Amino acid sequence: MNSQNVQEGVAMLDTVQGPVYRPGDEGYDDERTGFQTAGPHRPSVIVGAVDADDVRAAVRHAAEHGLPVAVQNTGHGLPLTADGGLLISTRRMTGLRVDPEARSVWIKAGVRWAQVVEEAAKHGLAPLSGSSPGVGAVSYTLGGGVGLMSRLYGFAADHVPAIDVVTADGRARRVGPGDELFWALLGGRANFGVVTGLEIGLVPVPHLYGGGLYFDTAYIPDILEAWRTWSATAPDAMTSSIALMPVPDIPVFPEPLRGKHVAHVRIAYVGDDGERLVAPLRAVGPRLIDTVDEMPYTASGTIHNEPPVPMAYHATNVALDRLDEETVGDLLALVGPGSPDRAILEIRHLGGAMAKEPSVPNAVGNRGAEYLVGVLSKLGPGADVEALHTRVGDALERKASGRLLNFLFGANATPEQVRASYEPEIYERLAGLKAVYDPSNMFRLNHNIPPSG
Ligand SMILES: Cc1cc2nc3c(=O)[nH]c(=O)nc-3n(C[C@H](O)[C@H](O)[C@H](O)COP(=O)(O)OP(=O)(O)OC[C@H]3O[C@@H](n4cnc5c(N)ncnc54)[C@H](O)[C@@H]3O)c2cc1C
Repeated sequence: MNSQNVQEGVAMLDTVQGPVYRPGDEGYDDERTGFQTAGPHRPSVIVGAVDADDVRAAVRHAAEHGLPVAVQNTGHGLPLTADGGLLISTRRMTGLRVDPEARSVWIKAGVRWAQVVEEAAKHGLAPLSGSSPGVGAVSYTLGGGVGLMSRLYGFAADHVPAIDVVTADGRARRVGPGDELFWALLGGRANFGVVTGLEIGLVPVPHLYGGGLYFDTAYIPDILEAWRTWSATAPDAMTSSIALMPVPDIPVFPEPLRGKHVAHVRIAYVGDDGERLVAPLRAVGPRLIDTVDEMPYTASGTIHNEPPVPMAYHATNVALDRLDEETVGDLLALVGPGSPDRAILEIRHLGGAMAKEPSVPNAVGNRGAEYLVGVLSKLGPGADVEALHTRVGDALERKASGRLLNFLFGANATPEQVRASYEPEIYERLAGLKAVYDPSNMFRLNHNIPPSG
């Protein structure tokens, strides 16, 4: 470690218990780097917070020095590079406490879903976690949270009884239902402060009927069409998605998939008649791999089977009110097996309980969307990713009903796309509250909602 730089940092932030890093310090690169490795940021100072007091000290320091503030846990979201700003890294804040009676868990800012899933399972409970166990539970929930059981239970944000947050004035506050800041944080995320802890609801679902159905290239048009019509009438207890992906011919992937463009249907069903429900999809053709069966919720990360290793990628995601044949045809032409572009297409089925207003209102936008379409490209030499994503954006834009905040990826998210993540009245109310709680827009290194006026 470059002790001179670190000492200088500590002297300026002398009450902080965790490490403080500046460019050039040993540990700086590791601390600033997360899952998304495209566009790494270069903050002028990083505070590796260990508790809420460290977060308060960091926010006060930033206010004193006029620095913009960014927050990072796992780096799965990386909305904007925090160049020149103060980055609060929460990865050391990993405490959690399950209350089995209340069916809830208090989680600190650095907790990932894998940890919550494991602890909740000891009490026969499960969180409303998403496709990847490596994602940070706090940011996921503040951004809405589209989970494996969301069509049955709604957004993860709809099941939050209390939030601990440090606001731009350096105050630590606990907020709950009825507080305007509580409403704003659940959907407005990092715009309103650094959340240091969150209480989230758990559900009594120790098992799922779930897994993946993998079909070979020749079956892609049929399974896509079968899933499209099947999902439109699926019960709320069924949450599913489909992905089309070119699988590299390398040993890290299962042998039956290697070198093929495959369709992967992901199933998560809470109920006893899953086999009957999934039968029309299996009837489309033979599966290269079929893992759909009764599974403990602790195995739910295998449903999407997303890679845990950091990578550089570009993604375009839009929400749709309906998925028609024409849209599916356009997507197949753009990123299907015949396309020269090697990209992953994912379509998630939304709706169900997500479309309903929660018992305690929050600022999560675009509840009415029925599908979420995303195209993801790994960045690498020779790939003209920008051009492909412009074409995908153009094809989907006229059909889009909006965006979902959690699926606005990287620096390619424009202010218009942030705005499109909310209904106009929600956005205006958020901008008004931003003017109250963060009038100088200290928290702007995010999917930013500038203060109104
Ligand atoms: C592989 C993969 C799978 C995913 N699956 C799903 C899914 O199934 N459902 C879903 O809804 N989303 C999903 N997402 C999106 C994910 O929920 C968001 O990107 C989320 O913001 C990631 O949070 P993080 O802490 O892991 O990432 P980070 O990059 O560390 O955080 C993202 C942003 O959240 C804000 N933030 C982080 N911590 C705090 C805090 N303590 N207080 C206030 N703001 C904070 C900051 O602005 C930060 O830049 C997925 C993303 C990836 C890459």
